[in-house]
Order: sequence, then C-alpha cells, then structure tokens
Amino acid sequence: MPTSVQIPNPKFYYPTPLTALMTEECIAPGLSERDKFDRAKKIGWLDIDAINSARVLMVGAGAIGNEVAKNLVLSGFRDITVVDMDRVENSNLARCLFFSDEDVSSGRMKAEIVASGLMKLDGNVSAKASVGKIQEQRDGFFRNFDIVLGCLDNVLARLYVNAQCCHNRIPYIDGAMDGFRGKVQVIIPPDTPCLECGMNRSHGRIAEQRFSCTGNSISLYLPKIGAEITTTSIIGALQVREAVKVISGKQGNCIKNAVYYDGMKNSLEVLEIDRNPDCPNHLE
Ligand SMILES: [Zn+2]
Repeated sequence: MPTSVQIPNPKFYYPTPLTALMTEECIAPGLSERDKFDRAKKIGWLDIDAINSARVLMVGAGAIGNEVAKNLVLSGFRDITVVDMDRVENSNLARCLFFSDEDVSSGRMKAEIVASGLMKLDGNVSAKASVGKIQEQRDGFFRNFDIVLGCLDNVLARLYVNAQCCHNRIPYIDGAMDGFRGKVQVIIPPDTPCLECGMNRSHGRIAEQRFSCTGNSISLYLPKIGAEITTTSIIGALQVREAVKVISGKQGNCIKNAVYYDGMKNSLEVLEIDRNPDCPNHLE
C-alpha cells in the first residue's frame, strides 16, 4: 500500500509578503523591462536624453575604435560620425568586433563597416562614415560635434585632432595603447592641459621627422606595436565612460590629467600633466 503524501502548505514556503508580490506584473516583463535604457536611468546623474542627442565624432576605426563604437551605442549615443582612411586587414580581425573575413576579401573600408554595424546594433542610431584622413576634412568640420573620441595610432593625427578640439572648444578624449599598457587623457578646452602639453621631446622628434621627410604627410614606415583585445577593451571602455560623464555634465568627475593602465602590473595610475605655458593651443 502506498503511503499518502502530505502536500505541504505553500504558505510555508512562500510567506504572505512574498506571495503578495507574485503578481502578473512580477512575472511578466514590466515597464522597466521594455525600456532599453532603464538600467542606465537608474544612475541618477546620467543624462540619457543628452547622450541620445549628443553629436559624436570618432577618429579612427581600428581596434580601439571598434570597442569605442560598440560602447558608444550601448551607452545610448545615437549620432556618430566615424573617420578612418584604411581598409580592413587580416591582422585586424583578432581585435575588432565589427570586422569579418569577408570584409578583408572584399576590401571594405573600416569607417563604412563600423558605421553600418552601429546602425544594425541599434535602429535609432544615425552613423556616418567619412573615408580619408582627419586632416583632409573640410573647414569647420569639427564644429559639427559636441565631443570627439580619438582612437588613433599616430602622433600627428592626434596632435591635429587635439589642436582642432582646443580651437573649437570641444571636449576631446584620447585613447592609446601599447601591448598590455594603455593611456586615456581627457581634454576639456579651455580648462585642462591638452595632449600637446603632455607630450615629451621624443614625440616632437617623431613628428618632426615625418614632416621633414614628406612635407605634410606621413610616409615613413612605422613598426607596428603589440596589441591585444583585453587592453583595447579597457582603454575603449574608459574613453566612453568619460564621454558619458562629459555629456551628462559631470566634467568635474572626469580624469583630470591622464590615466595609465598597466595590465602586467595590474595598476591604473594618474599622471599629472601641467599646462605648458608655451603650448600654442591655449593662446587666445
Ligand atoms: Zn596644451
């Protein structure tokens, strides 16, 4: 004879307060789940409306650029212009979310792939691609933007973007990396030191060499530096985190000078940069 099984009183397992919470609203997606940026809006100071409408310029669509682009859209930025002059190569594929083997074989341009990838990621995004050097953009180009993110791999282009941002008083967030190390600097003209203020003499010599050999463009062969995706991700994330703060009106909480990341020492350190009184970017 099977013994009868006593079914326990469900109230024993689900006391009244919890049972009361188990309404249809609790088990079905509520309003908060229907809002894509609900979790961001729970961060009190974060201004998602300002982020949605900010006009962003991304200079460089390589490894850091891919990470920055992805983070921008997932953070709510919707108006993004991508400038890059290169085609995708096989050596890019290990660090770039938006690039594929097919892009390499078809010789597609990085800026165009990233821009179209961003619009697939979010249908509300308007992303434009500009193929070419940043130095060749039309006069007044920078005045179309509220913030600029530098994802570049050469000093000259960085200095050019920095100077344009200083001149037009546009916040500029520069990212750089070398192997397991990386750096992020936030420039908010006219208040902070700029990229040129923080550059040393060796940077200057590199720039001079390139100018003296070519007149006005880069033609020297530059050895490629080591790079891997985890450092790229960290630097790209720091840049977009700073962009979120700037656009939300939290400039006071931004990186004051430059932050250096070292993935082998597990460190994130602030390097103080003084404003150089001779820097041409601060002359009124
Ligand atoms: Zn300066």
